[in-house]
Amino acid sequence: MDKDIILMTKSENTMHSKILDGKKVSNQIINKLSLKIIDRKNKNIPPPCLAVIIVGNDPASKIYVNNKKVYSEKIGIKSLSYDLQENTTTNELLSLIMKLNNNKDVNGILVQLPLPNHINANLVLEKILPEKDVDGFHPYNVGRLSQNNPQIRSCTPYGIIKLLEHYKINLEGKNTVIIGESNIVGRPLISELLNKNATVTICHKHTNNLEKHVKYADIIFTATGVANLIKGDWIKQDAVVVDVGICRLDNEQIVGDVEFEKAIKKASFITPVPGGVGPMTIAMLLKNTLLAQDIQLKKL
Ligand code: NAD
Repeated sequence: MDKDIILMTKSENTMHSKILDGKKVSNQIINKLSLKIIDRKNKNIPPPCLAVIIVGNDPASKIYVNNKKVYSEKIGIKSLSYDLQENTTTNELLSLIMKLNNNKDVNGILVQLPLPNHINANLVLEKILPEKDVDGFHPYNVGRLSQNNPQIRSCTPYGIIKLLEHYKINLEGKNTVIIGESNIVGRPLISELLNKNATVTICHKHTNNLEKHVKYADIIFTATGVANLIKGDWIKQDAVVVDVGICRLDNEQIVGDVEFEKAIKKASFITPVPGGVGPMTIAMLLKNTLLAQDIQLKKL
């Protein structure tokens, strides 16, 4: 083989070994879940049932919801779809949730976010029974996570932890930085990292000198949706980079928050976008749906 080709192959291999492959790891988790569902069937336990509610016509939300339904059905989770019109009121949504709360055949309820501005999202999320809250957004589940006694955990931060565990990346004593403090990613991730004994710094759009915080971190978690916000040369040598961001460029390309091509040269491990955190989030949703069924069966 030509010397250049050997060199190129070697460097490609090195790059590849740095990738935190969320697609591969999520497939392994999903396969295990499907075996669990078969096992339940053999014990005459019905397949778990997930109700998925979407309000309005946001194209990205429609794609996410469809993915969740496809994966659920692929492994034998029954899925019910509620596609509501944009002008649905908070009260109408609350009554649907109460109906699903009272339906013993429904194990999980997912309301796709963001909701239209006229709907009070906090009221809606609090109305879902905590044991059916498969997204882990109910204050009860968030509170339990923050007290290091989790029950149903928010899917994206949970998926990140599972991905790091798979690659044996230890969090204890590490300087970690989170960029983005939303209720669905940054805030529950603070608790997840603290529960693993990491030291946590949280940054957001009002943070002064973001670069300084990123440069200091052993492990960087970013969830802003701002393409290329995190510069490759900010990454400390051998740091781990977890990019949650999903940014659609004008040419329709999907990228994350991090300058990937530059960052991969410094990082010891890095998530790709797509194919990193996204698939792990879906796997955790399915895992939570089985957990929700377990919790409900134990209550019977
Ligand atoms: P959000 O809009 O609720 O929060 C964005 C956060 O980024 C805020 O805390 C804001 O302060 C911070 N931010 C914005 N600009 C910043 C800047 N210039 N400097 C520092 N901080 C800044 O968003 P979200 O719902 O948390 O989602 C964030 C991103 O993660 C989006 O791209 C979303 O699509 C993606 N996401 C991906 C997954 C997944 O499974 N891969 C799951 C959830 C969200």
